[in-house]
Amino acid sequence: MARWWCVLPFLAACPRPTPTPQVPVPSAVDRGEWNRRAALHHVPAFWVSDDADPGVPGPDEVVWLWTGGAPQPLFVDGAPIEALARVSAGAPDAGDARIQAVLAELAHGRPSVVLTEVTAAERPFVEAMLAVGDAIDALHGLQRGSAGIEPAPDGPSRALSWRNQGPWCEQSTLEEAPECRATVEPVPRRPGVYPSDMEVDSAVCAELEAHDPPLMDPFTAVRREGDDLVAVPYPQAFPEASERAATALEAAASTLSDEEAAMAAYLRAAAQAFRDNDQVAADRAWLGTRGKSAWYVRVGPDETYWEPCDRKAGYHLVFARINPASIEWQEKLEPLKQELEAAIAERSGPYVARDVAFSLPEFIDITLNAGDSRAPLGGTTGQSLPNWGPVAEAGGRTVAMTNLDSDPDSIATRRARAASMLCTLDGFTDDPTPLLVSTVLHEAAHNLGPASGYTVDGKTDEQAFGGELATMLEELKAQTAAMLLTDFLAEKAVVTEDFARQAHIADFVWMLGQISNGMVDAEGGAEPYPQLSAIQLGLLMESGAVEWKADATAANGQDAGCFAIDAEALPGAIEALADEVFGVKGRADAERGRALRESHAPGSHVALFQTVTERWRRGPTGSFVYGFRFTE
Ligand SMILES: [Zn+2]
Repeated sequence: MARWWCVLPFLAACPRPTPTPQVPVPSAVDRGEWNRRAALHHVPAFWVSDDADPGVPGPDEVVWLWTGGAPQPLFVDGAPIEALARVSAGAPDAGDARIQAVLAELAHGRPSVVLTEVTAAERPFVEAMLAVGDAIDALHGLQRGSAGIEPAPDGPSRALSWRNQGPWCEQSTLEEAPECRATVEPVPRRPGVYPSDMEVDSAVCAELEAHDPPLMDPFTAVRREGDDLVAVPYPQAFPEASERAATALEAAASTLSDEEAAMAAYLRAAAQAFRDNDQVAADRAWLGTRGKSAWYVRVGPDETYWEPCDRKAGYHLVFARINPASIEWQEKLEPLKQELEAAIAERSGPYVARDVAFSLPEFIDITLNAGDSRAPLGGTTGQSLPNWGPVAEAGGRTVAMTNLDSDPDSIATRRARAASMLCTLDGFTDDPTPLLVSTVLHEAAHNLGPASGYTVDGKTDEQAFGGELATMLEELKAQTAAMLLTDFLAEKAVVTEDFARQAHIADFVWMLGQISNGMVDAEGGAEPYPQLSAIQLGLLMESGAVEWKADATAANGQDAGCFAIDAEALPGAIEALADEVFGVKGRADAERGRALRESHAPGSHVALFQTVTERWRRGPTGSFVYGFRFTE
């Protein structure tokens, strides 16, 4: 491990930064540019706001970013440390072809801060969880085969190695470019969950799959034993790193007060699983934290997408706070659930309203993602776990991440995207609450109206529609219900008319973002959210409440052609949309369901969707970085 980690700044074994007040800080640096440079220098700092002394990053405006290791001061006696002064002075040199390729790879993501404010009382726990993050990154590095690979000493190479958790480029155009790498010499990709001399491709995966005795248990690594292959449990395959994670988790548990007893019990059970591989015991303790903690923690081996055979669970940490606003809204909706059910049932004939119970996901605000959950670009916005075992069979837990695009830069990007596609920004807001309420309603609606378990002529919706179409139509129902029920809440004066309008515009912008993702995935499989968005947009346009005005200028004053939304007509159009969509679900009308998809996703809207995609993609994708502000 040691060398790779030592080149990261601010670790005990590495040279410490020293305050250099004598280095002048050039003034009038743009905040976005400064953050871009900081990422390229691999300096763990993010300039969050620029209010006091514009153009100069001040001590109250710059937060520390987790890039491994414990929090370090960025200012000493009000003066920036040397690394910050270096960022203010300029970007790293472009260098040779390799560094230029690395810079191109890094340019695919704009650093987007996920900021956590930490109180003095919370600090010991949060710092202990950062150490867990370090241990999980190290362990996942062993799984990926990137542990011990030292990047070149320049800033961009170290930045790439950190962001991608290895020296390799990940963006499709650069992935195959041999010069795109963080190391001076090329290093082959050899996942550490397979023997180091094994080149793993789909043929090898199939052989491993067919091996007797079995090798593909998700919590084991494949190793050579003489001439044969064996499956070795993770704690034995990665003994030191597993023990480091266990110890870090126990240390975190010991910082918690009695109020957090359930969380402490989970962290200890998770620690034990790093020693004995008993994931089920850890899962049970994890279930026990639901509703019993202000935090959400999931730590252990879970998803398999990261490795070529898609079978070995990657170690990760998701450390988050339970979102307090979502709890408030769930409590507001709970007493209304039968009325919400009636509002959907009346448009879902022959479906009849039933007694409903909400089972909602937990809404969480991410504090830190580590290991397999720390993606180079973008981030997971929802997750159901575990993937295996009795806790999974009993339903597990589902979470929705609510804070991933809530930083000032992402908010500005969203506004710019809306302004490039809407004719006016009337009803558009940067406040995340209307979209949060819509999301809560969407999730609630999965429990309402024709849902899983509802049958027509003895057929479930899976059987009537087929898996792919059934999934898309259920999401279409939930998203349409979110819009309809927002108006219902306005009628009941639970929210104001203005709030409902803001929620509709937020949903509309969400819809455009989904459309820009494309109707099918790389393998040609249906993408449910883009498809449902396309159907909603198509039906709203047919009703006349939404119009594409080719001759009008968008709200940004630049783009020709924009969507005009008729606020007066919108509630009626949403009702018509609901009649159509809930009717398809209520009658299990597969023919109509398919027809909706064929005529709208993309149907005749190909050119329009290209425009939407082009304008949406002008905004950069966020590369999440985790910032911390510690208050006294
Ligand atoms: Zn859904």
